[in-house]
Amino acid sequence: MTGAARWPLHPQPEAGEALSSWLIRVADAYGMTPGQLVRHNLGPASFELGDQNLSDLDMEPPPGMLEALHERTGVPRDQLASMTIAGWVPWLLDTLDPTQGTAAFETYVQQDSVILPPGRAIKRDLPIWRAWLPDRPMMRRACPRCIDDADGESAVFALASRIPLTIGCPKHGYRLEAMFGSLGAFIAWEDKDMVPTPTDPRVTAMDRRTHEGLATGTVSLPGRAVHVGAWLRLLRTLLDEVNTPTSTVRPSYRSNLQLVWQTIGRSPRAGQIRWRPYECLDWPAQQAMLHAAAAAVDLIETGRIPAAGTLAPLLHAQQHPAVYDGDPPHHRIDPAPATTVWQAAMTSIRDVIGIARQDAGTARQLLSLLTCYTPNELAYSRIRGELIETGIPSELLPTRDQAARSG
Ligand SMILES: [Zn+2]
Repeated sequence: MTGAARWPLHPQPEAGEALSSWLIRVADAYGMTPGQLVRHNLGPASFELGDQNLSDLDMEPPPGMLEALHERTGVPRDQLASMTIAGWVPWLLDTLDPTQGTAAFETYVQQDSVILPPGRAIKRDLPIWRAWLPDRPMMRRACPRCIDDADGESAVFALASRIPLTIGCPKHGYRLEAMFGSLGAFIAWEDKDMVPTPTDPRVTAMDRRTHEGLATGTVSLPGRAVHVGAWLRLLRTLLDEVNTPTSTVRPSYRSNLQLVWQTIGRSPRAGQIRWRPYECLDWPAQQAMLHAAAAAVDLIETGRIPAAGTLAPLLHAQQHPAVYDGDPPHHRIDPAPATTVWQAAMTSIRDVIGIARQDAGTARQLLSLLTCYTPNELAYSRIRGELIETGIPSELLPTRDQAARSG
C-alpha cells in the first residue's frame, strides 16, 4: 500500500464524523493501527506529519495529508476538510489564530444578541481567544449507547465530541462521557463507575440542531432554515448572555436571565463569581452554560420570555428577513430570494444595513443601488468603504471589477 494508488477498500466517512475516527476505521479495514496508516502509507504526506501528535489531526492536519487521503480514497478533499476544526473556518470560528482575541470576540460573540437588546455588550480585553476552542487538549467523549452498539468494532466519533459544543449524542439522547482513547478509539471510560445519563430534552433538541448544521450546512429553526454559521453564532452569543453578570443588565432583562437559570435549577451563571469567556470555563461549568442556553432557546420559542436581540426572530415562527452569511466550504446553499425582503426593507435604510451585514444578496443590492449613477471607480470605492464602515463585511461587497465581472 504505497504510492498514490487508490486503496481498494475503505469505509466511507459518516456525517459529522471526526477525521481521526474515520482514520481508525480505515486502518481497521487493513488490519493496521491508525499510526501505521498515516505515518507510512501517505507518501510524502507521511513525512509532513513529523512528530505531530496524531490526536491533533482533528484540529488542523498538515496541508498535504488531506490531498494524499483524497487521492487514495476518492473522498472529496472538501469533505475531508470538514472532518477537522480547520475545515470549519470561518463558520465554527473566524480564525484559528488565537492572537486576534479581542477583535474575534467582538465580531463572533458581541455583534448580535438574542435575549438581551442589541448594543449591551461589555467591552472585553481578550488578547488570546478563539471561539469554541479551550486552551487545553481536545476532549475525548463518547456516547455509552454508541459504544454498546459498536459491539467491539470501532465506533464513529463526531467532530463535535472533541470540543465543548454539544452535551449529548443526538441519536440516543445520552450525555457524552469522558473516555480514555488512543487517537479517538475507545479504550475505557474515565469514570469506571459511569452510569449512562439521558440529557434534558431541551439539550437534546439543541444538540440535534448543531449536529444537523455540521452534517448538512443548514439548521432548521422555527423562523426558517439558517446557515450553520448563523446558528453557531446564535448559540455562542446566547452562551455569553446566560454568562452575563445580572448586575450589569436592566431589571426586566435581569429577571429573564434569572428565569433561565431557575428553570434548570441552578443559580445564575452556575455560581461563577469571576467572568471568564465560555472557552476558559471548566467542562462542568460549560455544561451548565450549554444547559442554560438550551433552556433559554426553549423559553424564547414557547414565548415565555421575550427576546430583544437581533437574532431572536429566528427562534419565532414568523416571517422575517433572511439570515445568510455565505457558503461553507463544502456545501453550497442557495440564499433565500432577497427581492421581497429587499422591497419590505426599503422602508428603513437601517434595516437594510442590518440585513446586509449577514446577507450577501442584500449587501450586493444595496451597493449597486447606491452606486448605479456613480461615474467612476473612486466614487464607487468611497461608497463601498462607507458601507464597510457601517459593519457590512467587505467580502459581501464586490469591488467595481468584481461587480462588472458578475454582470
Ligand atoms: Zn449515541
